Amino acid sequence: MADGVTRPKHFLSDKVEHFTESVIREMTRQAMLHSAINLAQGFPDFPAPAEIKHAAQQAVAADINQYAITWGAKNLRQAIARQMQAWQGIVVNPETEVTVCCGSTESIVSTLLAVCNPGDEIVIFEPFYENYGPDSVISGARPRFVKLHPPNDYVGEWTFDERELRAAFSHQTKAIIVNTPNNPTGKVFTRQELEFIRDLCVEFNVLAITDEIYGHILYDGAEHISIASLEGMRERTVTINGMSKTYAVTGWRVGWTIAPPTITNAIRKVHDFLTVGAPAPLQEAGAAALGLPESYYHKLADGYLARRDRLIPALVEAGFKCFRPRGAYYVMTDISAFGFADDVSFTQNLVKEIGVAAVPGSSFYKHPRDGARQVRFAFCKRDETLDEAARRLRRLHAHK
Ligand code: GLN
Repeated sequence: MADGVTRPKHFLSDKVEHFTESVIREMTRQAMLHSAINLAQGFPDFPAPAEIKHAAQQAVAADINQYAITWGAKNLRQAIARQMQAWQGIVVNPETEVTVCCGSTESIVSTLLAVCNPGDEIVIFEPFYENYGPDSVISGARPRFVKLHPPNDYVGEWTFDERELRAAFSHQTKAIIVNTPNNPTGKVFTRQELEFIRDLCVEFNVLAITDEIYGHILYDGAEHISIASLEGMRERTVTINGMSKTYAVTGWRVGWTIAPPTITNAIRKVHDFLTVGAPAPLQEAGAAALGLPESYYHKLADGYLARRDRLIPALVEAGFKCFRPRGAYYVMTDISAFGFADDVSFTQNLVKEIGVAAVPGSSFYKHPRDGARQVRFAFCKRDETLDEAARRLRRLHAHK
């Protein structure tokens, strides 16, 4: 009866062997368990704008409670197209080029599932937002990592080596994932860097999948440039964005892709069979959100600048070396001064003994050793939260 005996892994896909659970989400669970301040997962602990909450309430009351069109409510798609034109000068057809998904998370998986064949390679800058690795595996592709090198002085930019990037491209490369502003480094890719990436994409006939979810969160005069706006990229770019970070509604799960019609068709097919659609009333509220005046976005960026400049001095005071972010709402730190064996033992001590949750750096790298001296903090939090974290962090002992 050997055939009838179920081995422990008998029922499982081999794919799930190739990745672990999300460390970011696990740290949130640990924060709750230990009543720690959660500076791990990147979600705001302050309220969403009143106007958009009201729009969501009204949509529910008006009985917009059945499925939206699978690829997204028309007025949200129109608002997305208008915003892309206003901010990046890119003309988008909302009927054929926009797909609304369940968050940018689903947008990325649906895109990869729509474009990847077995054996395809996806170029990913490292450190990377941890979803990209499993997303590639789920879609049957192989991730190919290229390092973003940290600045020696902690103040400058993280940079890639052009030769290393070129070496990662081959006839097996299907796509490159570009995340700008970048999670976890806070890097904002410059026009020159994006042009170098563009030239490789054109030379090797590669698609750019660009995650721009932090596109409105910028500091120190940094400019957000969509790679789709560069000459030659419009027809080979999938631009991904969503409501979560810009409007402080990470739980709503409304994101989208903008891509040429042929690619959009493929994404829509995958998306339809995966999820049918994003929450209908929240899509209506999305249309209202994207109609907020420009002043909203300036206030958003100013608010994050103040939070960045509140947390970083507290971290420095506690003994961390901080890589200065130019965008997004994370700060990568160097924990060498604390004398721990690695990032995981450090973050375990931090959450249990100090009462602050952060993300171990290794979860942003293929090889854990590469992130063993790094820890990421999120600062998308109220002043009180950041101040309480600062108070607790003073109990750390650094060997300065
Ligand atoms: N992007 C957020 C982070 O890096 C989390 C997103 C998520 O957990 N889905 O913390």
